[in-house]
Amino acid sequence: MHRRNFLRNTAAAGLGGMVAAGIPSRADMAVSAVTDETSAEARRARMTFTTDFEGGSLGKVVRVTDTYTRCILLGEVDQLGRNRQVSWYYFRIDGAPDSELTIDFTDLAGEYNFRPGNHAITPETPPVYSYDGQRWMHVAKEDWHAFEGSMRLRIKPAHSRLWIAHVAPYTNRRLAQLLQEIKGAPGLEYQVIGKSVQDRDIPMLTITDRGNESKEKKVVWLMFRQHAWEAGSSWVGEGSIRFLLSSDPIAARIRKKAIFKVLPLQDPDGLFRGGVRFNAYGYDLNRNWDANDPAKMPEIAAARNAILNWADHGGRIDFFLSLHNDETNEYLSGPPSPKFRPLGQKVFEELTRTTTFDPSRGYEEDATQAKLPEPGRMDVAEALYYQHSLPAFLMEQRIAYVGKLGRCPTIADRMEFGKSLVKAVWAALA
Ligand SMILES: [Zn+2]
Repeated sequence: MHRRNFLRNTAAAGLGGMVAAGIPSRADMAVSAVTDETSAEARRARMTFTTDFEGGSLGKVVRVTDTYTRCILLGEVDQLGRNRQVSWYYFRIDGAPDSELTIDFTDLAGEYNFRPGNHAITPETPPVYSYDGQRWMHVAKEDWHAFEGSMRLRIKPAHSRLWIAHVAPYTNRRLAQLLQEIKGAPGLEYQVIGKSVQDRDIPMLTITDRGNESKEKKVVWLMFRQHAWEAGSSWVGEGSIRFLLSSDPIAARIRKKAIFKVLPLQDPDGLFRGGVRFNAYGYDLNRNWDANDPAKMPEIAAARNAILNWADHGGRIDFFLSLHNDETNEYLSGPPSPKFRPLGQKVFEELTRTTTFDPSRGYEEDATQAKLPEPGRMDVAEALYYQHSLPAFLMEQRIAYVGKLGRCPTIADRMEFGKSLVKAVWAALA
């Protein structure tokens, strides 16, 4: 019976979400039945792998032995059936035995910008695990091995229940809790600027001291989490929002002299189903900014309209930044423009000097007009600059080991960076 329960969770359909022919599907699986048998044998026999919660994704689970499990990850493809990414897995184990588990993850090969390879999971990107779903730790280097197209995790769980993920998850529920907590804060305005394909809110926060309505106020736009797997971007966003609303004297001064427009989340559908970087129709939300298709990409249309409505009504935009995660690269890039170059360099220097930003290379500029991306491949920063002459920048932060931190970034590191990011941008603009 226990064995049958386990197998119920290994249905061929697999666990978690996958975009197929543009229609998202998500298998919600139940966990095994309760039993009062407590022998080691019984506990092993009823070990289950589950993704029946927000953001859960795994794929097909094959039980090889009592302590050796193989997970065939689903990954997701774009609207063309290309650019397969396997950059998200998030699942719970129940009934883990008191002995070492071996978990193999296979089918990791994919494509990034039409280049084949194992971009998502490398020897530098250890999984995280948690015993309460809140506090996450990185798997020790010696327990983690990435190969060509697969990876192996060995773990001796301290408890029978644990969660494992690619990076510490940040869910729609977490953002909703934050928004509830800060509701009514002085200086905060909350707006829904549009809906996702599956009718979820696309939020925007405006943070400023309304006692000072001066036109001289600098206006900073911060965009987080265009891509579902990049949870680190949301943790930074939460850190920025909390700091901007705080009683810290520097935050109070920033609110007096600046307006911060914060776009905390662009892909709520992807967060819900445990997606990677495509919306429910398969469109990459940080490409396609040169396309204009609100029906297929309502998330892009919502953000674009919010930004351009602001600008069209005489609103300033002194600095725009979209923040992303990368496996091993960390950098800031900006427009190939003599007008905006000094600002980009100043922000880069300020970040490097005062924060844990640990760039892999110097400040860099996007392609010049002569070498524009192929149609459908323009990102938000490129589109805002090329089409609207705005000072739009993009930052990547690595999920791998950061020299300045001496570890792979934790949730606390991301939140702290959110605070120092606001200060650094403000220092560069002031
Ligand atoms: Zn991204």
